[in-house]
Amino acid sequence: MYKVVEMFDSIEGEGKRSGMPATFIRFAGCNLRCGYCDTAYALFGEKEECRYEELGLEDLLSRDIKHCVTLTGGEPLIADGIAELTAQLLDRGHEINIETNGAVDIVGFLQEVGIYDEQKLFFTIDYKLPSSGMSDKMLWNNFENLMPYDVVKFVVGSDEDFLEMKRVINRMRTLYEVMPYMYAGCVYNEYDAKKLVKKLIEDSDTQDVRLQVQLHKIIWDADMRGV
Ligand code: SF4
Repeated sequence: MYKVVEMFDSIEGEGKRSGMPATFIRFAGCNLRCGYCDTAYALFGEKEECRYEELGLEDLLSRDIKHCVTLTGGEPLIADGIAELTAQLLDRGHEINIETNGAVDIVGFLQEVGIYDEQKLFFTIDYKLPSSGMSDKMLWNNFENLMPYDVVKFVVGSDEDFLEMKRVINRMRTLYEVMPYMYAGCVYNEYDAKKLVKKLIEDSDTQDVRLQVQLHKIIWDADMRGV
């Protein structure tokens, strides 16, 4: 049984696959409570929450189109049976993007998944900055064990956040020959994107950080679900 809030086809709104088709599975529940959470409806689950048999997952998985499957939430890595489902999706030939919040052990999760084609599974992992109120929940071990094809995402809501992002990036640089992808975006309606762009351009520590915007909030209504 999986507690799923919604499942839909759309395009990736963020990260290295931004703009590309994907099938999203949004799990209910999260171990964090970020001040700016834009998927609060996923934190506790809702009436339309499904059991596994009700998901239609088998129909989704048997389609000819093998979309990348994005496991998101809430926090997908706290869902019961998530490693088993991930292994199943990989066996069926899907690429998997796991959007995780940085506060759940990804190393242990990968051990549970078992043997897989490394190129087929990547993390888009948040590093929660001070304005989220959750930065003390970050598991540093996660950020020491990423691959060059993983993505670290920073959501900047203040100048203090920007400084902390730089500190984290510089610490990571001491660990990696090839860094994972790094993306920075703004807390929606809280931090000016033009200001962030200026800082990214002018700071020597952020020359390899990509700006990201949340495409789905530009294309559709910012509060619209299932897109
Ligand atoms: S980790 Fe994501 S889903 Fe959980 S509270 Fe923070 S923003 Fe919301």
